[in-house]
Amino acid sequence: MTATPPRPPMTARLARPAAAATDRLVRSRLLRGAQGSRFAVAVAAARTLRHLDRATDTRIDPSRAGRALLAAAPHALGTLAGRLAGGCALVSATNGKTTTTNLLAAIVRAGGQDPVVNHVGANMPGGLTAELLARARRGRVTADLGVFEIDELWLDHVVPPLLPKVIVLGNLFRDQLDRMGELDRVAARWRAFVAGLPPEVTLVVNADDPRVCQLAAVHPSLVLVGMDGVDRDGPAEHADIPDCQRCGTRIAYDGAHIGHLGRWRCPACGDRRPEQLHVVARDIAAGGLGGASFTLVAHMAPGAAMGEAGETRVTLAVPGRFNVANAALAGAAALSLGHDLATVTRGLGSSPGAFGRAEELRVAGRPLTMVLGKNPTGLDEVVTMLTAGGERIDLLLLLNDRDLDGRDVSWIWDVDMERLAPMVATLTCGGARASEAAMRMDYAGVDPARIEAVEGIAEPLARALARTTGPLVAVCNYSAMLDLRETLAEQGHTERYWR
Ligand SMILES: [Zn+2]
Repeated sequence: MTATPPRPPMTARLARPAAAATDRLVRSRLLRGAQGSRFAVAVAAARTLRHLDRATDTRIDPSRAGRALLAAAPHALGTLAGRLAGGCALVSATNGKTTTTNLLAAIVRAGGQDPVVNHVGANMPGGLTAELLARARRGRVTADLGVFEIDELWLDHVVPPLLPKVIVLGNLFRDQLDRMGELDRVAARWRAFVAGLPPEVTLVVNADDPRVCQLAAVHPSLVLVGMDGVDRDGPAEHADIPDCQRCGTRIAYDGAHIGHLGRWRCPACGDRRPEQLHVVARDIAAGGLGGASFTLVAHMAPGAAMGEAGETRVTLAVPGRFNVANAALAGAAALSLGHDLATVTRGLGSSPGAFGRAEELRVAGRPLTMVLGKNPTGLDEVVTMLTAGGERIDLLLLLNDRDLDGRDVSWIWDVDMERLAPMVATLTCGGARASEAAMRMDYAGVDPARIEAVEGIAEPLARALARTTGPLVAVCNYSAMLDLRETLAEQGHTERYWR
């Protein structure tokens, strides 16, 4: 490692107690239930808290200022969002919501608008409120519209205050089972809120996911989105195949592409993925880490406001079929907001993607690509992406088991790592569960002589850099990615993730 960690600046050490005092002030009885001019004071104080938090060098949660303001004024999210002239677009899904949100924001910017976006995955009400606070000036919010990703279990909660114009319902996969409970519980929550949704809200729906497609079907303004063609006859072995929501029969497939996504049908009642979708990704070229391209085809959606019909070739900086699906959803949402196909093409082509999602950094003069794989389907897609390039890779595999990740990491045994094993030149495992990651890759067939396991983040990173000379690929689960990003920032290689 060539760079030395920067010292926390003097302001950081002063800011911490000031932030604690401001946090207490915002939450104090003085500002509780604030309306009118007292609400303006609460907003100003919470803005100060956000500035102080950003000035400290600790790992303070970026949504703290938003949570403090919501404690003082529970209406704050709706009040601040109501000041956005262009309204809001929301994105929710298990996998890919951050990327889809960033791609949609890139299209909106290409269309000449300035969106407020929750870039950093702070996707609960406190995080949204914190982003709006950052743009609050004298009773206004200095942005044209909001483009927000929302946690799956918070979607129904934030729709009433935000009154979005467009909601993107992406895939539902098994993820963080400790927190999420059963997948079907999330689907039931979504079904209930869709049933109560005003008809003028446009739902942009991943039609390849039977759960999502079926639960959304009752809504009058639908934009159905999917991928053309399939990669295999049926879903992967460990896919989360649902039962039909109409009749309870297990869903069958005429081909699948990612996990349980594909050409689904119910063998009993005949419900199926609609043949005619409104936005389709076809002629997909998505091999390797270098990006992907596809043809986006748009048809008019009855009942939904759509900008333009036609087709366009899209080139993405983000790789993998998963990101083609994300881009198709983002494109459909942008069309629903009134943007044209030329803007969609320009916006999707301009976006570097989300932080940590196949993001390339330079570390000690060498390229380091960070890839997120936080659940079986996501990691399986990462394996597909890494093997598509056909080149041997030096791999840093970081596996944590915090609450954010779900404590149980046994899901890595569900992923077909055997496909990846022949491509591994060297493997350095890290994170809190480094030895479990190493054991999984040993079973997958990686020569044990090529594997090293060191707990933590900085140490395995240093080991991986020391024992290799070329580009490095870091595959991380969620909190491991945040830790790696923070470690790289501390070492001066990159900015902190929530600037
Ligand atoms: Zn059925």
